Amino acid sequence: MAGEAQDDCLFCKIVAGQIPATIVRETETTVAFRDINPQAPTHILVIPKAHHQDAAALAAEAPQLAADVLRETQAVADDEKLESYRTVFNTGSGAGQTVWHAHAHVLGGRGLEWPPG
Ligand code: C5P
Repeated sequence: MAGEAQDDCLFCKIVAGQIPATIVRETETTVAFRDINPQAPTHILVIPKAHHQDAAALAAEAPQLAADVLRETQAVADDEKLESYRTVFNTGSGAGQTVWHAHAHVLGGRGLEWPPG
């Protein structure tokens, strides 16, 4: 069922404390942690605690939770004192999604080119 923890999901395991992560913020519904392979001086992932496979599913299945995730991306940027930053949701393998639990990348601390690769 939508939102239920999945045994084989890496990010569900981070939420459950079964895999270590450098958690920088946590709310009732979300967790934010540093990306293990940072692509910028600040590279933090904001995830819903509930399992939704990507941003589109999150928005369709739990719109309030999608709003919580977006609000937390701004909170992360504030904590990191980022005036400019980029929020990315990779959706689908062709766009680079490798973990099938919705997550927002928050990238900042360096110049970011447009368009992205
Ligand atoms: O958008 P995508 O699905 O590719 O993003 C997954 C991200 O999760 C990657 O940037 C990867 O470095 C990160 N990751 C992590 N901790 C893990 C496994 C993956 O931060 N244990």
